[in-house]
Amino acid sequence: MPEAESHDLIIIGGGPGGYVAAIRAAQLGLKTALIEREHLGGICLNWGCIPTKTLLRSSEINHLLHHLGEFGFAADNIRYDLEKVVKRSRAVARQMQSGVGFLLKKNKVTVYDGQARLAAKQTITITGKTNKTLTAPHIILATGARARQLAGLETDGKLIWSYREAMVPPAMPKSLLVVGSGAIGIEFASFFQNMGAQVTVVEVLDRILPVEDAEISAFVRKALEKQGMRILTGAKLGAIGKGADNVTVTLEAAGKAETITVDRIISAVGIVGNTEDLGLEGTGVVVEKTHVQIDGFCRTGAPGVYAIGDLAGPPWLAHKASHEGVLCVESIAGLPGLHPIDWTNIPGCTYCRPQVASVGLTEARARERGHDIKVGRFPFIGNGKAVAMGEPEGMVKVVFDAPTGALLGAHMAGAEVTEMIQGYVIARTLESTEAELIHAVFPHPTVSETMHEAVLAAYGRTIHF
Ligand SMILES: Cc1cc2nc3c(=O)[nH]c(=O)nc-3n(C[C@H](O)[C@H](O)[C@H](O)COP(=O)(O)OP(=O)(O)OC[C@H]3O[C@@H](n4cnc5c(N)ncnc54)[C@H](O)[C@@H]3O)c2cc1C
Repeated sequence: MPEAESHDLIIIGGGPGGYVAAIRAAQLGLKTALIEREHLGGICLNWGCIPTKTLLRSSEINHLLHHLGEFGFAADNIRYDLEKVVKRSRAVARQMQSGVGFLLKKNKVTVYDGQARLAAKQTITITGKTNKTLTAPHIILATGARARQLAGLETDGKLIWSYREAMVPPAMPKSLLVVGSGAIGIEFASFFQNMGAQVTVVEVLDRILPVEDAEISAFVRKALEKQGMRILTGAKLGAIGKGADNVTVTLEAAGKAETITVDRIISAVGIVGNTEDLGLEGTGVVVEKTHVQIDGFCRTGAPGVYAIGDLAGPPWLAHKASHEGVLCVESIAGLPGLHPIDWTNIPGCTYCRPQVASVGLTEARARERGHDIKVGRFPFIGNGKAVAMGEPEGMVKVVFDAPTGALLGAHMAGAEVTEMIQGYVIARTLESTEAELIHAVFPHPTVSETMHEAVLAAYGRTIHF
């Protein structure tokens, strides 16, 4: 048996957690190996963030093309070629994925194709395309997550889609049922609705986008319903009958049962961590509800073993995975002055129409935690740039701690809010209070002025509403 190859750090999984951690480790002088079994870039680049945003861009354009009249244009016979729309999405994913390979190479990270598992303390075996044993004093688990399967609604790739099939539809369904109204479910609902499908969303909880502030959930629901989407909350799925090219589903909401027939179903009922076959048994790594338990520096219960990203629990977001990866590696390298991760300061974005973005505590959560709060709101209709862009539908809501003026949370819905939320993230990172935010000068005309006005509103000083 060949001798095991030794490294300073081994990373299992090449998603935005693993590959970013590997690059940072190499920058810090650690001899680093990364093992990936399917595709560098993980779900994010291949089957998540990037291909969905590419599809959503096409659906936004489709929407705009059908509203050309508002801007003084006219065009006949507007249509799209779905195959080309999907092809562009796959091409963008491929382009970004090959970029990751290049960056790893440039940083001299050794990349292995194959399936990795912990074989013994500080030892990893790789099987599949590569057969090798590696050793390192530090091992980061970054194996990500996959779609959760709901009993009775198992995805079959034809009639019942997971996000993977939903991203490469062979034809546009005329009608679609989306089960689950988290970010992934609502993004697909918005894409298909804007491309002309009749979309119904069912959510077992009492509102859509359940992690968002209740007011933002209600605002987005109203906007989506105005676009023609049907939304059932507090709803249960009953019997599912598959036809040759459609599915009949019994739904129960508000005490009423109904049966609907749709062309396709997208199941978006959450994710489960990829913890299987990693050799975690007996290592001290604690797995709870399919996620590895970690502390604020991504350490697991086994010395020298760390976990980051989707595997390590919510929020299941690429930038959270990358941030954990960097922090974990810097702590392994012994960098001074590090702070444990603050999971309340991870922004969340949903790229539906209207977009949604938030950071920090919702109003309800702030009250639950006993804060005496001040809340400010500002609607896009009071903002010149939003109206000029033809995007008057939106709102910003901010929550402050009344005694200290600390910004506890910010919640936005409307055009480009996913680009703007970063302003509030910086404010929270710098522990800004209302005083700094009020005195900051926002450029005019920009939609970002709504962020300023919402802060002013919390203190009874709003100008434009
Ligand atoms: C449809 C969709 C849209 C999304 N949109 C967004 C978005 O807009 N913004 C956002 O922030 N997040 C989004 N996400 C979530 C985002 O994709 C994930 O949070 C992110 O990919 C997590 O990164 P990760 O590195 O933890 O895991 P992953 O990206 O899942 O990567 C893990 C990698 O590990 C590999 N692996 C697993 N087990 C092994 C093993 N034993 N050996 C070797 N390799 C292994 C896998 O092949 C995979 O490549 C979206 C997700 C989906 C599904």
